Amino acid sequence: MTKITDLDALVAFRRDLHRHPELGFEEHRTSAAIAERLRALGLEVTTGIASTGIVATLRAKDDDKGRSVGLRADIDALAMPEASGKPWASETAGRMHACGHDGHTTMLLGAAQILAADPPPSGTVHFIFQPAEEGRGGARRMVEEGLFTRFPCDHVFGLHNMPGMACDAMAVVPGPQLASSDSWRVTFRGIGSHGAKPHQGRDALTASAQFVAALQTIPGRVVDPLQPAIVSACAMSAGDMNALNVIPAQVEIGGTARAFSPDVRDQLETEIGRLANGIASAMAVEVDYQFIRRIPPVINNATATAIALEAARSVSAHVDTAFAPSTAGDDFAIFGQQVPGAYVWLGNGPAVAGALHHNPGYDFNDDAIPTGIAFWVEVARRALARD
Ligand SMILES: [Zn+2]
Ligand SMILES: [Zn+2]
Repeated sequence: MTKITDLDALVAFRRDLHRHPELGFEEHRTSAAIAERLRALGLEVTTGIASTGIVATLRAKDDDKGRSVGLRADIDALAMPEASGKPWASETAGRMHACGHDGHTTMLLGAAQILAADPPPSGTVHFIFQPAEEGRGGARRMVEEGLFTRFPCDHVFGLHNMPGMACDAMAVVPGPQLASSDSWRVTFRGIGSHGAKPHQGRDALTASAQFVAALQTIPGRVVDPLQPAIVSACAMSAGDMNALNVIPAQVEIGGTARAFSPDVRDQLETEIGRLANGIASAMAVEVDYQFIRRIPPVINNATATAIALEAARSVSAHVDTAFAPSTAGDDFAIFGQQVPGAYVWLGNGPAVAGALHHNPGYDFNDDAIPTGIAFWVEVARRALARD
């Protein structure tokens, strides 16, 4: 395995990032710290892509003929309080690295150190430090700002830590890895009335209750049972608990829709709208429907997955090729739509006191850093060595 000479310094860097978490597009301190270290390695460093995003480029001498590869780490934190009790816990109230992006950033920086000191014989490596993965659209904005036209890549790779898997273990699986993550909103507009005289109005609240109950017929009765699909109502607002004799004129409902294929994703958009319109029509109320496409599913490309699998097997004796997909999302999917890509999982050790991603007790496990760095170095070398 690749030898990492200054692991202590990398661990210290990771803990410093952890202490100073920043939200999407606000990662100014984080971004400056990354750029400073990349410049010290002699790489070409481009800052300001999607505000706080960075691409650092390493070119081999005969780069014109060579291939190119993108390696992506996300750098942002979450708006939540930390309760890990670690000496390096967040110093900013209501901000926390609860998804391990501090670890992802550190591992990609560690790989940049090794590859800068011993570059591949040909080709170009783009180290992509992406802001705002957590729901703020960093990947989309990087692509809109010309990520892959300014820094063309033949393949792009992403990695996420996974608690509950040993620190020297990885999972590399072709096909769907993470679900699409879209939002929807439905507003039923009736005619408000006295609670004692419902016949004088049109009851949007009863319509919305029928809609919420009927939603589960979409995954249950409409989508192919062999295709995963999730529709969840997650917010509802109407009426006033201090006015229990008033039927409100309007009810707003919102939620999420998840799928692992573009077809099922399209189907969810159509079917949620069909139900909302059908129930509104049956109940003689008006309805507005909005489906907000946020991120597509992460679907690993076969060739990129084969490269990642070779790399993983060269650095880990425990590579799972049948790891189940997650119903969470990651906007790496947008990179994967532009360039053949693969997204892999790196073990992060036992979930301490059950603290998984986005839990206030979570902390990235530094023991995973060597395997993560070794994977990045190998995947870059192998992606560039292919003919
Ligand atoms: Zn997350
Ligand atoms: Zn994450």
